[in-house]
Amino acid sequence: MNMQALVIEKPRAACVRSVPVPPVGEQDILIEVKASGICGTDAHIFRGEYLGTYPVIPGHEFSGVVAEAGAGVTRFVVGDRAAVEPNLACGICPPCLSNRQNFCGRWSALGVTRPGGMAAYAAVPEQAAFKLEKNLSFLEGAFMEPLSCVLHGLERAPVRFGDRVLVVGAGPMGLLLTQAACLHGAGAVTQVDRNQSRLERAQENGASQVRQSLEGLPQDSFDLVVDATGVPALMARAVDFARKGGAVLWFGAPPRDGKLELPAFSIFEKGLSLVSSYTSARNSLQALALLETGKIRVSPLVSHTLPLADFARAVELIETGRDNVLKVMILPDSGGL
Ligand SMILES: [Zn+2]
Ligand SMILES: [Zn+2]
Repeated sequence: MNMQALVIEKPRAACVRSVPVPPVGEQDILIEVKASGICGTDAHIFRGEYLGTYPVIPGHEFSGVVAEAGAGVTRFVVGDRAAVEPNLACGICPPCLSNRQNFCGRWSALGVTRPGGMAAYAAVPEQAAFKLEKNLSFLEGAFMEPLSCVLHGLERAPVRFGDRVLVVGAGPMGLLLTQAACLHGAGAVTQVDRNQSRLERAQENGASQVRQSLEGLPQDSFDLVVDATGVPALMARAVDFARKGGAVLWFGAPPRDGKLELPAFSIFEKGLSLVSSYTSARNSLQALALLETGKIRVSPLVSHTLPLADFARAVELIETGRDNVLKVMILPDSGGL
């Protein structure tokens, strides 16, 4: 049986074409994909600036309906709704055995090294699939993965009650970081983005103060500064705004060849905690719980829903920030939601 899939043949060359439906192993489920989110990682993959090999079917933030279940599958039956954790860990290497699955020595990922969710169907190991409750839409389910990364980041650099938090960048991840920081007890969140419409979203997501530039913000004053841009120059500036004894969380993915120029003495004198965060480590159940209970709201973050054929346009929207783009969702079958 064949299906329509978006295939990145090589960097900057993507097309929708007919490919075989992926084989379903004994421990796998086949998911009919209903919603598949695009993020900066997909833009990096499209440009050839990420891990993984080509050709690849991208899509690592997706949800759908179980269309087939392998003989060894115990938690799902055909017709169940599911969201997917794309990073696959072996479970038996030293990092896996130390609860650091995100550093698995035999890591692979749906939509990066294996066929992902930008297709009518995706084969997913059962261990990577999570039940999507009826009160969540497929669009909301597709946020399980990005939200799990946000939760992991804030586990690495915790917010304490009353903290003054600065979030640089108000894209979908920056907005989720603001929501999560508020939920975690932040006293006030200041959010910075050049884009005025994103700043309005920031206020709706809990930011108490918004700015179009870092200039004029008080230096040495925030308990936690979060970079949600991955732009090296902004990552470096984050340290200026953290208070003595405060923390910086570098959350956004920088370019592969990015370099930081940092004020060494200031970091020393302020006793800063400099923390980075890479993907997530089994934070999906936490993410689902917060989505199911409405503690984290993601539907307003979806700015565009597009068919598979518009993948390249979606990447361009994300790269340029045009049309007040926030989260772009691809609906592989263009309907049925
Ligand atoms: Zn992503
Ligand atoms: Zn492993």
